[in-house]
Amino acid sequence: MIVTFEAGIPDRVVDNLTIEAKRLLIGCRSLRFADGSVAIGFDRTLPPDLLEGLAASQVHPAHRPYMLATSEHRRQSLVRVGDVEFGGDDPVLIAGPCVVESRERMVEAAIAVRHAGAQMLRGGAFKPRTSPYSFQGHGEEGLQMLADARYATGLPFVTEVLEPEQVGLVAEYADMLQIGARNMANTPLLKKAARAGKPILLKRGFSATIDEWMMAAEYVLSEGNPNVVLCERGIRGFDPAVRFNLDLNAVPLARQLTHLPVIVDPSHGTGLRSLVRPMALAGIAAGAHGLIIEAQPDPDSAICDGYQTISTEELATIKRKMTLLGQALADEPVDSDLLVHA
Ligand code: PEP
Ligand code: MN
Repeated sequence: MIVTFEAGIPDRVVDNLTIEAKRLLIGCRSLRFADGSVAIGFDRTLPPDLLEGLAASQVHPAHRPYMLATSEHRRQSLVRVGDVEFGGDDPVLIAGPCVVESRERMVEAAIAVRHAGAQMLRGGAFKPRTSPYSFQGHGEEGLQMLADARYATGLPFVTEVLEPEQVGLVAEYADMLQIGARNMANTPLLKKAARAGKPILLKRGFSATIDEWMMAAEYVLSEGNPNVVLCERGIRGFDPAVRFNLDLNAVPLARQLTHLPVIVDPSHGTGLRSLVRPMALAGIAAGAHGLIIEAQPDPDSAICDGYQTISTEELATIKRKMTLLGQALADEPVDSDLLVHA
């Protein structure tokens, strides 16, 4: 079951309830949202006397195991990264190179993507590469280059953290921490990243079910961090014609199942530059709160993922069209009522 409280409930009341539940060996996790309201998930039904006198509380049945992330007690969360807001009517555009290549190229790319309309930067300093022979990223120097790009443009940046030991360092520089597809189910990393106090971009593993993705988000929320943005980035299919299959079912489904904002990565989700624009716009049409796109001024010279990296002119076209689509869809309802509970 899930118990929620409106903003203003003192921590003491929440703590007492969770202590009592734990005394009865009832598993529970609590979370205070940015708006001050509180949700507590319990893995069994509480004895009714525990809730007596807690007038501000509301009890919700839990049909899903991710009791803090579920939409059953909350319709939509907003996640802020600086001035950028995920989860509202305006879709957010994050863009930049796959990997931070050099200070000059990162700053140049940042200026160009800002000019194209991006509100946030991306770029890998610690890269998860399929081959150990491939460039693994500049590490801390790469983080400094991203910080320089932020300074030059005023845009906040998201970058990946690969290991629990790196969380402190990456969080010193980054505005948002990315948990990559290959690490979605790395629970020690999820817990450590959650506690760094920064918003988390949680990519879906390329063979993860929707429930596994939601449970990964639940790990972050249950560490007391409400600021999670989900990212659909493509799943493994059978056809080598594309690198991954962008699973656009996941977008409206995740929006129905959870209150967390959902964005789409059409770069990794297709692996082909020519598919990025149509699938980016399809992602917005499916209800995504934003896009994360690999873009740089000279994509053919990119040292990583160039074949799926678009030019900044192409990025500007996507920005123009996604804004129009976002306006057209602003009042599109999220039909959780049609969900059939298992
Ligand atoms: C990335 O965004 O740079 C990346 C490696 O993505 P993913 O984890 O989705 O493969
Ligand atoms: Mn990449």
